[in-house]
Amino acid sequence: MPSTSSYYFTGGMLYFEVQGKIFRIHEDILVARSTFFKQMFSLPREGVREVEGQTEEAPIVVPGVTSQDFTSVLLFLYGREFDRCHKFSEDSLAGILRLSNKWQIPGGRAFVIPQLTAQSDIDPVVWFSLASHERVRQWFMPSFVAAAAKSFTEDDIFLIGVTWTAYFTQLREQQLNFRRLAYFTQPPTRAELDECPSECHKKWPLIWRYFHVAWFYADGFLGYKELLDMLEEVNAVNHGICETCFEAVEEDLQNNSMLRMESELLLDSARKAMAMVVFDDDIDDDDD
Ligand SMILES: [Zn+2]
Repeated sequence: MPSTSSYYFTGGMLYFEVQGKIFRIHEDILVARSTFFKQMFSLPREGVREVEGQTEEAPIVVPGVTSQDFTSVLLFLYGREFDRCHKFSEDSLAGILRLSNKWQIPGGRAFVIPQLTAQSDIDPVVWFSLASHERVRQWFMPSFVAAAAKSFTEDDIFLIGVTWTAYFTQLREQQLNFRRLAYFTQPPTRAELDECPSECHKKWPLIWRYFHVAWFYADGFLGYKELLDMLEEVNAVNHGICETCFEAVEEDLQNNSMLRMESELLLDSARKAMAMVVFDDDIDDDDD
Protein backbone atom coordinates (compact mmCIF):
# COMPACT_ATOMS: atom_id res chain seq x y z
CA MET A 1 0.00 0.00 0.00
CA PRO A 2 1.45 3.43 -0.88
CA SER A 3 2.31 5.77 1.99
CA THR A 4 1.41 9.46 2.15
CA SER A 5 4.02 12.01 1.11
CA SER A 6 4.80 15.33 2.77
CA TYR A 7 2.64 16.92 0.06
CA TYR A 8 -0.66 15.57 1.23
CA PHE A 9 -3.03 18.43 1.88
CA THR A 10 -5.85 17.77 4.27
CA GLY A 11 -7.36 21.19 4.71
CA GLY A 12 -10.38 22.41 2.82
CA MET A 13 -11.45 25.84 1.75
CA LEU A 14 -12.20 28.51 4.33
CA TYR A 15 -14.52 31.49 4.04
CA PHE A 16 -13.41 34.78 5.56
CA GLU A 17 -15.26 38.06 5.81
CA VAL A 18 -13.15 41.19 5.88
CA GLN A 19 -14.81 44.62 5.73
CA GLY A 20 -17.91 43.12 4.15
CA LYS A 21 -15.94 41.22 1.48
CA ILE A 22 -15.97 37.43 1.29
CA PHE A 23 -12.72 35.55 0.65
CA ARG A 24 -12.42 31.82 -0.05
CA ILE A 25 -8.92 30.60 0.87
CA HIS A 26 -7.00 27.32 1.14
CA GLU A 27 -6.64 26.39 4.79
CA ASP A 28 -3.35 24.62 4.02
CA ILE A 29 -1.77 27.82 2.72
CA LEU A 30 -2.66 29.71 5.89
CA VAL A 31 -1.47 26.88 8.14
CA ALA A 32 1.81 26.51 6.23
CA ARG A 33 2.67 30.21 6.19
CA SER A 34 1.26 31.63 9.41
CA THR A 35 2.11 30.54 12.94
CA PHE A 36 -1.01 32.29 14.19
CA PHE A 37 -3.37 30.37 11.86
CA LYS A 38 -1.50 27.13 12.43
CA GLN A 39 -2.18 27.41 16.14
CA MET A 40 -5.73 28.61 15.60
CA PHE A 41 -6.69 25.69 13.35
CA SER A 42 -4.95 23.12 15.52
CA LEU A 43 -7.46 23.85 18.29
CA PRO A 44 -10.40 21.47 18.46
CA ARG A 45 -13.34 22.89 16.54
CA GLU A 46 -16.38 22.64 18.69
CA GLY A 47 -19.69 24.45 18.96
CA VAL A 48 -19.78 27.60 16.83
CA ARG A 49 -16.20 27.03 15.71
CA GLU A 50 -17.19 23.76 14.07
CA VAL A 51 -19.08 25.53 11.29
CA GLU A 52 -17.19 28.81 11.32
CA GLY A 53 -15.51 29.42 7.99
CA GLN A 54 -17.02 26.34 6.37
CA THR A 55 -19.70 28.13 4.37
CA GLU A 56 -20.20 31.51 2.82
CA GLU A 57 -23.10 32.06 5.23
CA ALA A 58 -20.88 31.50 8.29
CA PRO A 59 -17.51 33.05 7.42
CA ILE A 60 -14.65 33.73 9.84
CA VAL A 61 -15.08 37.44 10.48
CA VAL A 62 -11.76 39.30 10.77
CA PRO A 63 -12.15 42.57 12.68
CA GLY A 64 -9.72 45.48 12.63
CA VAL A 65 -8.22 44.59 9.25
CA THR A 66 -8.91 46.31 5.93
CA SER A 67 -9.81 44.25 2.89
CA GLN A 68 -6.88 45.90 1.04
CA ASP A 69 -4.38 44.72 3.66
CA PHE A 70 -5.97 41.28 3.63
CA THR A 71 -5.74 41.08 -0.17
CA SER A 72 -2.10 42.23 -0.04
CA VAL A 73 -1.08 39.60 2.47
CA LEU A 74 -2.87 36.94 0.39
CA LEU A 75 -0.89 38.01 -2.69
CA PHE A 76 2.21 37.46 -0.61
CA LEU A 77 1.04 34.14 0.89
CA TYR A 78 0.07 32.81 -2.52
CA GLY A 79 3.57 33.54 -3.79
CA ARG A 80 2.90 36.57 -5.96
CA GLU A 81 6.35 37.86 -5.00
CA PHE A 82 7.87 35.22 -7.28
CA ASP A 83 6.11 36.80 -10.25
CA ARG A 84 8.79 39.25 -11.33
CA CYS A 85 6.33 41.35 -13.29
CA HIS A 86 4.29 42.04 -10.19
CA LYS A 87 5.34 45.14 -8.31
CA PHE A 88 3.90 45.57 -4.82
CA SER A 89 2.79 49.12 -4.14
CA GLU A 90 3.87 51.01 -1.05
CA ASP A 91 0.39 50.52 0.51
CA SER A 92 0.47 46.86 -0.33
CA LEU A 93 3.89 46.38 1.30
CA ALA A 94 2.72 48.24 4.41
CA GLY A 95 -0.30 45.90 4.58
CA ILE A 96 1.91 42.82 4.31
CA LEU A 97 4.11 44.17 7.10
CA ARG A 98 1.16 44.86 9.41
CA LEU A 99 -0.46 41.47 8.93
CA SER A 100 2.84 39.55 8.98
CA ASN A 101 3.37 40.92 12.46
CA LYS A 102 -0.21 40.29 13.52
CA TRP A 103 -0.39 36.75 12.19
CA GLN A 104 3.26 35.77 12.64
CA ILE A 105 4.08 35.11 9.02
CA PRO A 106 7.78 34.23 8.78
CA GLY A 107 9.50 36.00 5.92
CA GLY A 108 6.95 38.80 5.72
CA ARG A 109 9.12 41.39 7.43
CA ALA A 110 12.23 40.29 5.56
CA PHE A 111 10.30 40.61 2.29
CA VAL A 112 8.87 44.07 3.00
CA ILE A 113 11.58 45.95 4.92
CA PRO A 114 14.28 46.16 2.20
CA GLN A 115 11.70 47.10 -0.44
CA LEU A 116 10.07 49.86 1.58
CA THR A 117 13.50 51.12 2.64
CA ALA A 118 14.37 51.57 -1.02
CA GLN A 119 11.22 53.66 -1.64
CA SER A 120 12.48 57.11 -0.82
CA ASP A 121 9.21 58.86 -1.75
CA ILE A 122 7.22 57.35 1.11
CA ASP A 123 5.39 59.95 3.24
CA PRO A 124 7.47 60.60 6.39
CA VAL A 125 4.51 60.23 8.74
CA VAL A 126 3.39 56.94 7.13
CA TRP A 127 6.97 55.76 7.39
CA PHE A 128 7.27 56.76 11.04
CA SER A 129 3.96 55.11 11.95
CA LEU A 130 5.18 51.87 10.37
CA ALA A 131 8.55 52.13 12.13
CA SER A 132 6.96 52.67 15.54
CA HIS A 133 3.86 50.46 15.30
CA GLU A 134 5.49 47.62 13.39
CA ARG A 135 8.71 47.93 15.39
CA VAL A 136 11.25 48.32 12.59
CA ARG A 137 14.48 49.46 14.21
CA GLN A 138 16.36 50.59 11.12
CA TRP A 139 13.54 52.90 10.04
CA PHE A 140 13.05 54.59 13.37
CA MET A 141 15.72 57.32 13.40
CA PRO A 142 15.43 58.42 9.74
CA SER A 143 11.63 58.39 9.81
CA PHE A 144 11.53 60.27 13.11
CA VAL A 145 13.79 62.99 11.71
CA ALA A 146 11.71 63.21 8.52
CA ALA A 147 8.38 63.27 10.39
CA ALA A 148 9.59 65.94 12.83
CA ALA A 149 10.08 68.33 9.91
CA LYS A 150 6.47 67.97 8.71
CA SER A 151 3.44 69.86 9.97
CA PHE A 152 0.84 67.26 10.85
CA THR A 153 -2.57 66.97 9.25
CA GLU A 154 -5.53 65.36 11.00
CA ASP A 155 -4.80 62.15 9.09
CA ASP A 156 -1.21 62.22 10.34
CA ILE A 157 -2.36 62.54 13.94
CA PHE A 158 -4.77 59.65 13.48
CA LEU A 159 -1.97 57.59 11.97
CA ILE A 160 0.70 58.09 14.63
CA GLY A 161 -1.68 58.38 17.61
CA VAL A 162 -1.93 60.87 20.45
CA THR A 163 1.18 59.79 22.33
CA TRP A 164 3.53 60.39 19.44
CA THR A 165 1.67 63.56 18.44
CA ALA A 166 2.23 64.89 21.96
CA TYR A 167 5.87 63.89 21.77
CA PHE A 168 6.42 65.76 18.51
CA THR A 169 4.45 68.78 19.75
CA GLN A 170 6.68 69.00 22.79
CA LEU A 171 9.76 68.75 20.60
CA ARG A 172 8.55 71.64 18.45
CA GLU A 173 7.87 73.77 21.51
CA GLN A 174 11.44 73.16 22.63
CA GLN A 175 12.65 74.12 19.17
CA LEU A 176 10.64 77.35 19.28
CA ASN A 177 12.05 78.18 22.71
CA PHE A 178 15.55 77.68 21.36
CA ARG A 179 14.81 79.95 18.42
CA ARG A 180 13.49 82.65 20.76
CA LEU A 181 16.67 82.35 22.77
CA ALA A 182 18.81 82.60 19.63
CA TYR A 183 16.84 85.64 18.46
CA PHE A 184 18.12 87.73 21.34
CA THR A 185 21.78 86.85 21.02
CA GLN A 186 24.21 89.61 20.09
CA PRO A 187 25.95 89.41 16.72
CA PRO A 188 29.52 88.13 16.97
CA THR A 189 32.05 90.96 16.70
CA ARG A 190 35.26 90.66 14.74
CA ALA A 191 38.14 93.04 14.27
CA GLU A 192 37.79 92.67 10.49
CA LEU A 193 34.36 94.34 10.57
CA ASP A 194 35.51 97.39 12.48
CA GLU A 195 38.53 97.82 10.27
CA CYS A 196 36.69 97.23 7.01
CA PRO A 197 36.75 100.16 4.54
CA SER A 198 33.18 99.24 3.48
CA GLU A 199 32.05 99.93 7.05
CA CYS A 200 30.67 96.43 7.45
CA HIS A 201 30.27 96.86 11.21
CA LYS A 202 27.35 99.21 10.53
CA LYS A 203 25.44 96.70 8.38
CA TRP A 204 26.20 93.61 10.40
CA PRO A 205 23.74 93.97 13.36
CA LEU A 206 20.80 94.34 10.97
CA ILE A 207 21.88 91.34 8.85
CA TRP A 208 22.19 89.33 12.04
CA ARG A 209 18.62 90.35 13.01
CA TYR A 210 17.20 89.54 9.55
CA PHE A 211 18.86 86.16 9.68
CA HIS A 212 17.20 85.36 13.00
CA VAL A 213 13.80 86.40 11.70
CA ALA A 214 14.23 84.09 8.70
CA TRP A 215 15.40 81.31 11.01
CA PHE A 216 12.50 81.84 13.41
CA TYR A 217 9.93 81.28 10.67
CA ALA A 218 11.75 78.49 8.83
CA ASP A 219 10.20 75.02 8.56
CA GLY A 220 11.86 71.90 9.88
CA PHE A 221 14.92 71.43 12.01
CA LEU A 222 17.97 73.23 10.68
CA GLY A 223 21.54 72.10 11.08
CA TYR A 224 24.67 74.22 11.22
CA LYS A 225 25.31 74.03 7.48
CA GLU A 226 21.74 74.98 6.54
CA LEU A 227 21.77 77.93 8.92
CA LEU A 228 25.06 79.16 7.53
CA ASP A 229 23.61 78.96 4.01
CA MET A 230 20.61 80.92 5.24
CA LEU A 231 22.83 83.60 6.74
CA GLU A 232 24.80 83.83 3.49
CA GLU A 233 21.60 84.23 1.51
CA VAL A 234 20.17 86.87 3.86
CA ASN A 235 23.47 88.72 3.61
CA ALA A 236 23.48 88.60 -0.19
CA VAL A 237 19.83 89.63 -0.59
CA ASN A 238 20.23 92.60 1.76
CA HIS A 239 23.59 93.76 0.31
CA GLY A 240 25.23 93.05 3.65
CA ILE A 241 28.83 92.66 4.71
CA CYS A 242 31.69 92.06 2.26
CA GLU A 243 33.22 88.69 1.48
CA THR A 244 36.26 89.18 3.73
CA CYS A 245 34.10 90.12 6.69
CA PHE A 246 31.71 87.26 6.03
CA GLU A 247 34.57 84.78 6.09
CA ALA A 248 35.74 86.24 9.40
CA VAL A 249 32.24 85.92 10.88
CA GLU A 250 31.91 82.41 9.51
CA GLU A 251 35.08 81.42 11.32
CA ASP A 252 33.68 82.81 14.53
CA LEU A 253 30.38 80.97 14.10
CA GLN A 254 32.07 77.59 13.91
CA ASN A 255 32.19 77.61 17.70
CA ASN A 256 28.65 78.92 18.06
CA SER A 257 26.58 76.32 19.85
CA MET A 258 23.30 78.11 19.03
CA LEU A 259 23.62 77.14 15.38
CA ARG A 260 23.94 73.48 16.29
CA MET A 261 21.28 73.24 18.97
CA GLU A 262 18.36 72.41 16.69
CA SER A 263 19.95 69.43 15.01
CA GLU A 264 21.27 68.25 18.38
CA LEU A 265 17.84 68.63 19.96
CA LEU A 266 16.29 66.61 17.14
CA LEU A 267 18.78 63.75 17.37
CA ASP A 268 18.63 63.68 21.14
CA SER A 269 14.84 63.56 21.01
CA ALA A 270 14.92 60.78 18.39
CA ARG A 271 17.29 58.73 20.54
CA LYS A 272 15.06 59.14 23.61
CA ALA A 273 12.01 58.16 21.55
CA MET A 274 13.81 55.11 20.23
CA ALA A 275 14.48 53.94 23.77
CA MET A 276 10.69 53.93 24.35
CA VAL A 277 9.99 51.40 21.59
CA VAL A 278 10.49 47.65 21.76
CA PHE A 279 11.75 46.50 18.38
CA ASP A 280 11.55 43.14 16.71
CA ASP A 281 14.88 41.57 15.91
CA ASP A 282 15.04 41.75 12.18
CA ILE A 283 17.33 39.67 10.05
CA ASP A 284 18.32 42.84 8.23
CA ASP A 285 19.38 44.57 11.43
CA ASP A 286 22.97 45.07 12.41
CA ASP A 287 24.02 43.31 15.58
CA ASP A 288 24.10 46.39 17.74
ZN1 LIG B 1 33.76 94.20 5.14
